[in-house]
Amino acid sequence: MSVADHLRRRIHAEGPLSVADVMAAALVHPELGYYTTRDPFGAAGDFVTAPEISQMFGELIGLWAAVVWQGMGAPDPVALVELGPGRGTLMADALRASAGVPAFRAATSVHLVEASPALRRHQATRLQGARPRWHDGLDSLPDQPAIVIANEFFDALPIVQLVRDGRNWRERRMAVAADAEEFVWTLAPGASPHAGLLDPRLRERAPDGALAEVCPAGLSIARTLADRLNRFGGAVLAIDYGHGVSAVGDTLQAVRRHRPADILATLGDADLTAHVDFGALGRAVTEAGAVQHGPVGQGDFLQRLGIEARAEALCRAATTEQGAAVRGACARLIHPDEMGTLFKAVAWTRADAPPPPGFE
Ligand code: SAH
Repeated sequence: MSVADHLRRRIHAEGPLSVADVMAAALVHPELGYYTTRDPFGAAGDFVTAPEISQMFGELIGLWAAVVWQGMGAPDPVALVELGPGRGTLMADALRASAGVPAFRAATSVHLVEASPALRRHQATRLQGARPRWHDGLDSLPDQPAIVIANEFFDALPIVQLVRDGRNWRERRMAVAADAEEFVWTLAPGASPHAGLLDPRLRERAPDGALAEVCPAGLSIARTLADRLNRFGGAVLAIDYGHGVSAVGDTLQAVRRHRPADILATLGDADLTAHVDFGALGRAVTEAGAVQHGPVGQGDFLQRLGIEARAEALCRAATTEQGAAVRGACARLIHPDEMGTLFKAVAWTRADAPPPPGFE
């Protein structure tokens, strides 16, 4: 059975499905989902992420983690947690770089929150020496200070789309066309309870017909992490593409073989993501008593962590060809026309902690 067949059956049984249900099934259905069944990364796959572009990305984040740990007073034990670790590349590069701070490595246990069995196998191979522990969610993480990394994780979490209709916000749903097998978008009849999660300013002022998005799963993870920061200390670093201030607009997109794809025609066979609303995540973290630092553009963040010096160091030990590849990768990660400004970094800490490196 395909994801499309599964969704058609559900629609026949339950009626039209919310965008969140569609996204969750398409990406992480236990047997059929896009992530559950494959390794989508790299030139031969569907998309490329920052850690797959260059080892420098994970290395700088590993050093960031070690410096943050020192700033926390060097707690032992400390959990190094990654949400949605993909192929395990970022964590492998981070651990290698942070070996330069042996006391940090000695205090660290590695925890991976991953929904995909296929990607867990990749991570196990890649991170063999680090003896990681896997988790389905945040509940089973140890009660310890934690440094949590999430690169392109929040964009994969299911969103709800709401359309303004007079005084109400109605939920966008996916249905099956009456005379065909094709999927079509519709609107749920009544007012959606999710409207309560919208930025109050947007909720009141958005024009009729405007589409706004909320990510209940992302907000709930942000609140849980903020609670953990308050109880045990630590820091969270989230990097993703999205907007710093909540705004209206449809950002749901499917990507296949490095190109935009038709969402309704490629369910389960293409990556499906939405822009991350850092404004909304920041409000959730603040309401839970912690703070959000940033957002800072990925370009500025990596430059403040010294990516250019790291690139030059790699070039000195490289052939001309390798050097050109390193400089090219560096430009791709930081240039404003590439990943430098669309991608943004935020850090979450306890309210009394100083801004972590890159956020001063
Ligand atoms: N951080 C990696 C991978 C990003 S892709 C990188 O930068 O290359 C998104 C990752 O999140 C994948 O590992 C995917 O399997 C995982 N994922 C998606 N939804 C998830 C969920 N609900 N719970 C746990 N992991 C999830």
